[in-house]
Amino acid sequence: MLTHSTILGYPRIGPRRELKRALEAYWDGRLSRDELDRVGADLRADTWRRLAALGLCALPANTFSEYDHVLDTAVLLDAVPERYRAAADPYFAMARGADGLPPLRMTKWFDTNYHYLVPEIGAGTPLRLAGDKPMREVREARALGYATRPVVVGPVTFLLLAEPAPGGPPPLSRLDDALDAYADLLAALAAEGVEWVQLDEPALVTGAGVAEARRAYERLGALTDRPKLLVASYFGELGDALPALAATGIEAIGLDLVRGGPVDPAALGGKTLVAGVVSGRDVWRTDLDAALYELSRHPDVVVSTSCSLLHVPYDLDVETDLDPALRERLAFADQKVAEVVALADLLARGSTGTAPARSPAAAPPTSTSDTRAPYPERAASQAVHLGLPELPVTTIGSFPQTGELRAARAALAAGTLDEPGYERLIEAEIERVVRLQERLGIDVLVHGEPERNDMVQYFAEHLDGFAITRHGWVQSYGSRCTRPPIIHSDVRRPAPITVRWTRYAQSLTERPVKGMLTGPVTIVAWSFVRRDIALREVVAQVAEAVRAEVHDLAAEGTSIIQVDEPALRELLPLRRERQDEYLRWAVAAYRHATSSAGDHTQIHTHLCYSNASEVIAAIDGLDADVTTIESARSSGRILGQLDGFGRGLGPGVYDIHSPRVPGAAEVGDLLDAVLEVVPAERVWVNPDCGLKTRTYPQVEAALANLVTAARERRTD
Ligand code: GLN
Ligand code: ZN
Repeated sequence: MLTHSTILGYPRIGPRRELKRALEAYWDGRLSRDELDRVGADLRADTWRRLAALGLCALPANTFSEYDHVLDTAVLLDAVPERYRAAADPYFAMARGADGLPPLRMTKWFDTNYHYLVPEIGAGTPLRLAGDKPMREVREARALGYATRPVVVGPVTFLLLAEPAPGGPPPLSRLDDALDAYADLLAALAAEGVEWVQLDEPALVTGAGVAEARRAYERLGALTDRPKLLVASYFGELGDALPALAATGIEAIGLDLVRGGPVDPAALGGKTLVAGVVSGRDVWRTDLDAALYELSRHPDVVVSTSCSLLHVPYDLDVETDLDPALRERLAFADQKVAEVVALADLLARGSTGTAPARSPAAAPPTSTSDTRAPYPERAASQAVHLGLPELPVTTIGSFPQTGELRAARAALAAGTLDEPGYERLIEAEIERVVRLQERLGIDVLVHGEPERNDMVQYFAEHLDGFAITRHGWVQSYGSRCTRPPIIHSDVRRPAPITVRWTRYAQSLTERPVKGMLTGPVTIVAWSFVRRDIALREVVAQVAEAVRAEVHDLAAEGTSIIQVDEPALRELLPLRRERQDEYLRWAVAAYRHATSSAGDHTQIHTHLCYSNASEVIAAIDGLDADVTTIESARSSGRILGQLDGFGRGLGPGVYDIHSPRVPGAAEVGDLLDAVLEVVPAERVWVNPDCGLKTRTYPQVEAALANLVTAARERRTD
């Protein structure tokens, strides 16, 4: 049996983001490969020591990654597309691109804010044990005196997350080849003296891969030369995959009992249950009593987290600025490890807990509260009111965030710059951005968002019910981290947030300046949310606050208000059968937030992904007058999907993710492709996303080309 407490994984960016700094220094040539490796080794050693000090019995290994654990798995299995093999550093070439070679595609890890690199697997892509990272980490831990359980992405999830090489078969058709490689991996780990291996199969909670999982674990379970197998699922319930796994020869099954709910002990077919009772997806303390109740129902159980702790910050103890009453309710990674250990202790001493209170009642349906006329009527009055040229040119909101702006924000926080001094700097920046846009000939201006550190955190800082941490960083991808705000009580807008900046920008110019807000779903998706009320209720509260801001902007005479909802798809439930219900209430919340504007106020929305197929109908349901969307990079893939979309549309014609400046002819080609599908009177000309990460020289040159391309195509 496994010992009685474990976790499925742990953060790896470093408590002070040491890995981020080391990676960036390595990429800049300021750190050698050896030095980078040493930073990684130190972080791994610190993690094992920390977990052991907290009293955890079974320590995981191979939860560290220099960039991404899915990429690590691809490299381990030699599933490296041919084009990267000649690169100086194929690993980082796949992660970030190199010498004109674009990186692998990156996408969301299930419904988290972590992003992984999508392996590309064709008929001829090797699938064989080629690396030794798990073995090396096991050895490293052993040298420090720790026996560990290596964690590897399982074969079914790995193949389900991969995409076919162009023209190739579905990666899952390569399952048998993958299983050969996993059999070799298990043999290598057995030779290393490993007792247990954890194979992560979160993809099974989406309902996919059930038959393949049965086949895979029948085969791996029947091997004689292998460590014991824990197959870990998380982010939901296993459904039909549970009986499939229970019928195989594996030794333990990991279940997410927080998201998936309680499970009948008989359903495990006598396997050890690695019981995910401490949530790895939120920052709240566990109800130990309720957890004990669930744990004590199972005869053979190991206390664990619901998923890896990758998705929460390291340590609450360093958050000394948080309200003590709030701190008492919180648990970050280390506090969650302590909870797992405490639960295992209590269980060992025979505590059985008490049945949990009922889960929160479902919220009443959100009223759509539409007060706006239907789109065609509104469009006509807006056209008169705005008097824009054909193919109007605009941007998505942010302009480059300069070093001076960041320094000013730091100085304000440190108290070396006072509020009026800071506001003068912001106003100067707004004026510069407005003048630049006028000079370039842009039709609908923005104020440039210089006052915002981040499109969600800025609003969180100005709304009641949110707390901001100082060190609560969570890895988003590679070296990138975010610091999600914590929604801890009812959300309220105590005062207008953006109105003064929009008013100031508009006072400088005759051209329309767009108001710029973040939508309710995105604010919630990029925050940690409450557990005591339903998610849709949290979204509804934020929608109410955004609605008040929309109302106040419109009352100022703001003729265009953009409410960004780039994360609309991020809260989409993993199981298909629950998605429609989610989209219904999410869309209703957006409409509620925006319908406080009058008919001649044009509402824009912005979404930033190119594969929107699941949410196309929802985009129409948002009832925005104009939708801007990523498109430049996906060679117009979105256009086919939006054929017949009957509202204003601005598919991005400038890929802001790259430092490259597209020429006017190139922009013109993309625009012509748009004009083939969308009537000219509804087309907008804009970049893919905000310009925040670009430099002024890049932005000026690219926007000038956008204006040229648009003007060449105007007929009025
Ligand atoms: N208005 C935001 C900006 O321009 C939108 C960012 C986003 O879509 N992620 O920065
Ligand atoms: Zn975007």
